[in-house]
Amino acid sequence: MAETSPAADTVAANLAAIRAEIAEAARAVDRDPADVTLIGVAKKQPMDRLHAALDAGLRVFGENRVQEAQAKYPDLRARYPDLALHLVGPLQSNKAEDAVALFDVIQTVDRPKIARALAKEMAEQDRHPRLFVQVNVGEEPQKAGIPPAEAEDFVRWCREDLGLTISGLMCIPPLDEDPALYFALLAETAQRLDLPQLSMGMSADYTTAIRLGATHVRVGSALFGERETG
Ligand SMILES: *Cc1c(COP(=O)(O)O)cnc(C)c1O
Repeated sequence: MAETSPAADTVAANLAAIRAEIAEAARAVDRDPADVTLIGVAKKQPMDRLHAALDAGLRVFGENRVQEAQAKYPDLRARYPDLALHLVGPLQSNKAEDAVALFDVIQTVDRPKIARALAKEMAEQDRHPRLFVQVNVGEEPQKAGIPPAEAEDFVRWCREDLGLTISGLMCIPPLDEDPALYFALLAETAQRLDLPQLSMGMSADYTTAIRLGATHVRVGSALFGERETG
């Protein structure tokens, strides 16, 4: 067997520990652990850590920049055809074409302009990534997302006027606040709209998110370690 690097061993151990925590959190609320997808958020991580996660069996990755993802995934996709890629960062409309071409899931539909650009690109490319609407649960001015009170109208507009299928909701709660209330708010909004999928929970709070119904957790540093700066 080939020798593995210390970083690779760490990523594999982290992955096993996170999977165990996901299973425990799901079972504690009578949910099937298989209904929770772990997304390894690999932004600004050295490639050897992505390879380590792939070697250990992870196949779902998240990125928050289209350009960074374009540089990293075409090669990985060729080696791992079952790899799934989620966009979890804000999308500019001039990147909609590239995003539709590259991602399997776009979690950050956060304003009408982006919804329109995605609808146009999906029709043109005949490629249909799954879409989540990002909700600005804490109504923070610096954060992207649809205000909670407008989420229902926005999702209906996406469906009825643009013909888009929306699969779920995504949120990033305010830092330094108890996220549980925000996760509950997102879950309640999704339920009202009959949306089956909920992307919520990161390294610090994914077990809380699972308890409140997360179907997708986005874990970066707890899995891969500290990100490179810059
Ligand atoms: C970076 C990022 C994550 C992962 O954050 P960690 O705290 O490192 O787990 C999750 N979601 C989004 C949208 C991110 O940008």
